[in-house]
Amino acid sequence: MGESKKLVLAVVDAMHPGMLRKAIDDGEAPTFAALAERGRMVSDCVSSFPSVTPVACSEMLTGVGPGQHGVMGMNWFHRVERRYIEYGSSFEATRTFGLFRAMYDLVYNMNLDHLSWEAETVFERLGDAGVRTATTPFLIYRGRRRHELGLEGLARRAFAVANFRHAVWAPDEFFYGDLYASRPTGCSSNMGRPGNRDEYSACVGEELVREAAYDFFLFALPDNDFHSHRHGPDAQTESIAKADIAFARIVEAGGGLDAFLETHAVILTADHAQTAVEHGLALAEEMAEDWRVLEPNSDRPEEAEIAVSPTSRAAAVYVLGEGPGHPVTHERVRTRLRGLEGVELTAWLADADGRPIVRGGVGLNGQLEGAEAVVASGGHELRFKPGRSVGDRRGRGWELAGELEALEAEVARHRFDAPAYPDGLGRVWSALSSPHAGDVLVSLAEGYECVDWGGVTHVGGGSHGGLGAEDSLAPLLFVGCGPEQPEHNPQWALRDIASVILDHFGIR
Ligand SMILES: [Zn+2]
Repeated sequence: MGESKKLVLAVVDAMHPGMLRKAIDDGEAPTFAALAERGRMVSDCVSSFPSVTPVACSEMLTGVGPGQHGVMGMNWFHRVERRYIEYGSSFEATRTFGLFRAMYDLVYNMNLDHLSWEAETVFERLGDAGVRTATTPFLIYRGRRRHELGLEGLARRAFAVANFRHAVWAPDEFFYGDLYASRPTGCSSNMGRPGNRDEYSACVGEELVREAAYDFFLFALPDNDFHSHRHGPDAQTESIAKADIAFARIVEAGGGLDAFLETHAVILTADHAQTAVEHGLALAEEMAEDWRVLEPNSDRPEEAEIAVSPTSRAAAVYVLGEGPGHPVTHERVRTRLRGLEGVELTAWLADADGRPIVRGGVGLNGQLEGAEAVVASGGHELRFKPGRSVGDRRGRGWELAGELEALEAEVARHRFDAPAYPDGLGRVWSALSSPHAGDVLVSLAEGYECVDWGGVTHVGGGSHGGLGAEDSLAPLLFVGCGPEQPEHNPQWALRDIASVILDHFGIR
């Protein structure tokens, strides 16, 4: 490395590419506008599926999809522990599972258990190469430096009772709410209250810039997601304007934009977008009419027939138990799901004879060998698996059978394209092959969101999670790094960002 500039990866949670464009055009985001002028912007970088923050951030920092990194949604069913994992879909959902339990899954288990150790993060790979890393609070933080819990006094004792006592492995400079802080900054996180998080990131960021404390700095600005959930995606110009102010603060701490860009390269992006929500889909309630659905914190998970994991505008249904009746149940679950208003698309794995694969207690156990994925939508079914017959925009090859209409796709000259569902084959395949995937995955129609386990939706506001383009496309801006002509790449995805970062520091 040596010669390379420092690199800041700024992630504005849920920033819709069209709303960033509007904020820039309206003069609401002057710093982002100045960056865009000096850099190269892609406006259709593809998120993960489900397009929710834990999955997308894991993908961004590991360079692989959920099939390899293993983090599977805001809520998912852990087959071995036989319980739901809940990362905090809403405050009410967190309370349903227990505040400390949900926080424990979010803070510790997501990084140190759920995120596969085979999927190394950018922080880990840079750390191994001697590049100094830093991050403001971000869901995925796993790195190479050990940090002790930073709480003091009463708060320390209260958290210790709930088993919040562990050291974690994180970047060299690491800030996570009030729990971890690698140096005193005088910045108050207000216990990570939504709406104040950008302010905290900016305050910490100023200190890190002034102290020249990093080579790679992940600058996370999460408040846009909260604002857009509440007020809808059209209101994002206001929260993007605030993110712009936060970014301007670290630029000022670095001596203004010219001086800052002399020493820094920048990547500005988002983890996913958002669409407007008008209807809630009470998926667990609907399914409970036909099956015994696993309840949160159930003492008798063995009595449940299915588990239902709402994850914003996507969902997963797990077929539980064992026995020869399984495939029938699987089919009945699919039929039931297809009949629900708001379900746009269902997807599952089938074996070489077309029979649905039910994973039971332990996951795939090699059943992926020879398996195919099936996507059903609007009365159409498309089956596919990795192969060589057609190529997609990312250069992956596939075997296809059935109806392209299921993904509103076209094949011309052996090239598959589905603009309505960007990287649809690759994302569905990766999601289905995740060890924690449901047996049936669901993506909702425009305007719908699943009611979470706390009974909450964002009706009247916005949400994300689906496979469709409106949920799934993020802006991606390179300033002083990345390829000369990013627009020549037929399709960018979040999982490409990790290699751009590593390339920047000369690591391969
Ligand atoms: Zn969100």
